[in-house]
Amino acid sequence: MAPLIIFDLDGTLAESKQSLTSEMADLLSRLIDQTCVAVISGGALSQFLKQVVTQLQNGVNLSNLYLLPTSGAAFYEFQNSDWKKIYEERFSEKEAHTIETAIRAAAEETDLIDFSKPAWGERIEYRGGQVTLSALGQQAPPSLKKEWDPDHTKRKMLQAEIAERLPEFSVGIGGATSIDVTKRGVDKAYGVRKLCERLHISEPDALYVGDELESGGNDEAIYKTSVQTRSVKDPLETAQLIELLLARIAQKAIF
Ligand SMILES: [Mg+2]
Repeated sequence: MAPLIIFDLDGTLAESKQSLTSEMADLLSRLIDQTCVAVISGGALSQFLKQVVTQLQNGVNLSNLYLLPTSGAAFYEFQNSDWKKIYEERFSEKEAHTIETAIRAAAEETDLIDFSKPAWGERIEYRGGQVTLSALGQQAPPSLKKEWDPDHTKRKMLQAEIAERLPEFSVGIGGATSIDVTKRGVDKAYGVRKLCERLHISEPDALYVGDELESGGNDEAIYKTSVQTRSVKDPLETAQLIELLLARIAQKAIF
């Protein structure tokens, strides 16, 4: 049984930007009471609290839960009844402006996003340690997000155009319609390494669960670490995996 299980959020624990289902919340709460659990994703802390933390069962042992928003650019743990920031690799206002300018230029060059047309919420969001471009807007319905770029072609084009303009930053594919820009070298692998160091857990002992571990997917950076990986296709498969892990824990308790 891994002493640390790290989950991607969107597409793994929940549908994009949606809250955990009550079944998932129940399973995750039970897992958190048994072992260290971390969630790492492109969203901001507020998104983690809304989608995950507030859905968990009352009385769950939150000191076993670690949150790494903005793809690992920030790290929070639960201390004295509150989420305490351990680090955050923040952008300055000037850097955020440079990034936004590059994103708009890349969108125009690729002709993939028309900023003059209305979107579902903000298209460019500044999240402290990360600037995120969401092609359809942050609040676009999950079904529309899924059908926008099923084969990653559009995101790869945008990623390449933005990266060319921002050689001093890391530019990665985020969710189904998004591109994340972070400080150079700051990605999910960076966050996972920091997490393992802080918990004194060797990387091969930890397990990472994500829905986009394939090439070009937003969990791919994890392969730079030596944590174990488990690919899932959706939250239903993640739920089955958690059930299996809980059953293993229960068996150990019996024998
Ligand atoms: Mg995902």
